This record gives sequence, C-alpha cells and structure tokens, in this order.
Amino acid sequence: MFEAQSAEDVLDLLDRERAPGAGVIARGAGRSYGDAAQSGGGEVIDMTALDRIVSVDEQSMLITAQAGATIAQLMARLAAQGLGLPVVPGTRHVTLAGAIASDIHGKNHHRDGAFARHVHSLRLCTPADGLLDLSPHFDPDLFYATLGGMGLTGVVLEATLRVERLRSPWVSADIDRTAGLAGTLELMSGEERHRYSVAWLDLLAGGRSMGRAIVSRADPLADPPPKQPLPRRLSRSARPPSLTGGPLLTVPRGCPDVLHPATMRAFNALRWRISPRRERERPQAMAPYFFPLDALGEWSRLYGPRGLIQYQLVIPAGRESALEASFEVIRRRRLPVYLAVFKRFGAAFGGPLSFPIEGWTLAIDMPAGAPGLAAALEELDLLVAGCGGRVYLSKDARMRRELLAEMYPRLGELAAVRERVDPDGVLGSDLSRRLRIDGAPA
Ligand SMILES: Cc1cc2nc3c(=O)[nH]c(=O)nc-3n(C[C@H](O)[C@H](O)[C@H](O)COP(=O)(O)OP(=O)(O)OC[C@H]3O[C@@H](n4cnc5c(N)ncnc54)[C@H](O)[C@@H]3O)c2cc1C
Repeated sequence: MFEAQSAEDVLDLLDRERAPGAGVIARGAGRSYGDAAQSGGGEVIDMTALDRIVSVDEQSMLITAQAGATIAQLMARLAAQGLGLPVVPGTRHVTLAGAIASDIHGKNHHRDGAFARHVHSLRLCTPADGLLDLSPHFDPDLFYATLGGMGLTGVVLEATLRVERLRSPWVSADIDRTAGLAGTLELMSGEERHRYSVAWLDLLAGGRSMGRAIVSRADPLADPPPKQPLPRRLSRSARPPSLTGGPLLTVPRGCPDVLHPATMRAFNALRWRISPRRERERPQAMAPYFFPLDALGEWSRLYGPRGLIQYQLVIPAGRESALEASFEVIRRRRLPVYLAVFKRFGAAFGGPLSFPIEGWTLAIDMPAGAPGLAAALEELDLLVAGCGGRVYLSKDARMRRELLAEMYPRLGELAAVRERVDPDGVLGSDLSRRLRIDGAPA
C-alpha cells in the first residue's frame, strides 16, 4: 500500500504506473464491505493522511476538505459553527472521498438525495490529464461520472460540499410498529413529511407477519425553549452524546460466535414485541440515531472468525411484488439475517455507477459462513436484475459480471470518460476486474 502525503505523490504514482492493467486504486478508510478499495497485484493508494479541512465558508455555506478527512472530522468542525452535513451514512468513520466514490446515502434519500447531490466541486488526479478542477460547469461528464465512480475515474484529492444549518444535535422520532409488509410500505410511501425515515425489519418472521417492522421517522429537533424542558431521560445528561466520540464498548478478539440462528430468531421477535406500537416525538441524540454501530467498536467480530457479508439491493418503485419475492427468497433459503435495514430512495442523481434509484432498498447482514449463502444471494441477484433493480457495489465481493450491465445500464458513459482520462487503463480494482466494469476482457 502506498501512503500518499501530497498531491505530487499521487501524480508521481499515476505517472510511474503507466503499464496497462496495473490496477491502481485509491483507498479511504476501507469501510466498504466488498473489494472496491483493493487491488491484488496492483497498487492501493492510502489517502487517509490527506485529511485537512481547508475552509468553511459560512456565507456560501460550503466546506472544502482533503480526500481523507472523515465524516466525523467534518461534522465536528461544522458543528462548532452551528452547521451540519446534509447526508451521512450509517457510520461516521468513512472518508470524504470514499463517500463521494460510493455516492453514499443516508436516512433522508427520499427527501435530499445521496451525497453526490451536495458536492459543489472537486479536484481529481487522472492518469492522462493530471490535476483537474471539476464542477457541473467544468467537464460535467467527468464530474458526474466521479460521483459514485468507485475510484475508477481518478483519485479525488479535495472536494467542496454544500452544508446546512444544524438546529441542534438532536432529532425527534416517531416510532411505529407494523404487523406486515403492507403496513410497512404504507407508512413509508406517499407524501413523507419526515426528513429521515428508516425501518428495522424482522425478516425471520413468516406468513402474514413477513415484512413486519419498527419504522422510525424523524426530523431535526430545535433546541427547546427554556420554559419547555426536555423529557427527563434527555435532561439527565447535560450534553447529548458527542457527534465524534469513540465507541462505548469494543467487542474483544476471539469473541464467541453468539449470533446463532435460533437466538437471533428469538432476538428479532423480542425486539419487535418490546417496541412500542406507536410513539410520537421521541427525542434522540443525533449520534446514536445516525450511527448506532459506531457505539460498538469492532462489532463485526460478533459474526465469528469468518466475518460477515452485507448485501444491499434496491427494487424500483412500482415493483413491490419483486420486493415481496426477495423477502420470500430470504425466508425460503433460511438465510440467517441478523440485521435488516429498509429505506426508501427518491430520484436517482449521481454517475453511471451510483447505486440509488427511486424505490426500496434493503441491507442485510449475515455471517459469511452461513450454509447456502452463495446460492441464495445468486437467486436474489437474478431477481433484482430482472426487475430493473441493482446491488450496491460498495458492499459486493461476489456478484456475477453478466448481471452488471442489466443493473447499471449507463456503463457506456463511464467507459467513454475512462477512455479519455485513463486510456491505458492504469486505474483498476479487484471490483472493476471481477465485474469487468469497463468492458475489458478478463
Ligand atoms: C457500519 C457501516 C455503515 C454503513 N452505512 C452506510 C449507509 O448508510 N449508506 C451508504 O451508502 N453506505 C454505508 N456504508 C458503506 C460506506 O459508507 C461506503 O462503503 C464508503 O464508500 C466507505 O468509505 P471509505 O472512506 O471507507 O472508502 P473505502 O472503503 O476505502 O473505498 C470505497 C470506494 O471509494 C473509493 N475511494 C476512496 N478514496 C478515494 C479517493 N481519494 N479518490 C477516489 N476514490 C476513492 C475507493 O476506490 C472505493 O471504490 C456503511 C459501512 C459501514 C461499515
């Protein structure tokens, strides 16, 4: 791994690696679940040392930072000035460039789109043209292809994002427990007045209970006026949990494999049962609301020595029967889904490899060693491709390349941009080679 300390380091490296197929790829915090930031036999550029926040411009509501600055760093700096990021993923330990390259989505995609929509401009280092400053007005094809481009259009060195006012580090959540998929979809469809919306699904429940969920819909909470004190459980802590604090607990190495299918079935059922049927305006601190897993350090150790797989699909709006069919596959194949997170996506925006399209997205965590996993995910892939949906490439390490063009029909646009900025095919990752993203032969 090559640790870049400056833009010149990146330029020099791309110049040195002129050999076609060398497979140079940038890497941020390495939080992608798949092989997008790896390049066996090639070179991986670690961008985490370039983590400076260059400027915060309150007048234009813009922040500029280097590629390796993390969402946690950006949030801390912005919060100090009463500002916030419009879109954050489920962990704050990802880098700015990683968020751009995966065009990450948050709990508010139905309202605010994904990360790409809030990128104002960026500086990219390409093999053919060196340093380029890109925006919707300067080389828009390359700019948009880089948003969700999985590092395949160049190395992002710096980016400028639009920011927003942060009313307080709290949200107010409405919680509903639904009895099945119809109820879950009904709550999350239509005119959604809440800014954030997410559901935890109990995918281990069958029959009429299939798709039952705890749905949480929330909005930023303004600081309460002095005469209206916060509810007791909130006022006990003088300050909300920090937006940037470390984990509260770390799972030890060699932790026994506690996630057995039977215990998890019971846990899922219990979690659903103990949740309130309906609760309104529950105040929740932003950090645990947005980043629940960040409280548990090394949480993936819970999945045993072989680790976990996360699989994320999106099914287009209007194809809800395919969504139901995907739940059926998960149940029939007896996949031990320990965590199933369900969200609604609004309109698509980013480049040809950007994942979100208007519809329903489901992310499921399973132990990598679960029996029958490969065949079950293959069946899901086919179902998803067949209905115009897609699998999230940042979380993939196994999909068959034949399905890529069905899921991502704008690959030709990416190939045209790559032909221009990387004619020798210097950039590449295990992901791009496995799926032949640029159409190159194996
Ligand atoms: C607990 C957890 C929760 C998550 N929740 C969400 C979520 O809610 N929504 C969501 O969308 N994703 C989510 N993710 C996935 C994660 O946000 C993305 O995979 C993100 O890209 C990781 O960023 P990173 O800095 O770790 O990048 P890496 O994993 O290192 O790389 C990811 C991609 O970015 C590219 N890249 C990195 N740096 C650069 C650079 N300087 N220039 C060009 N390309 C670069 C890499 O080549 C690679 O293709 C979650 C991941 C975890 C572990």
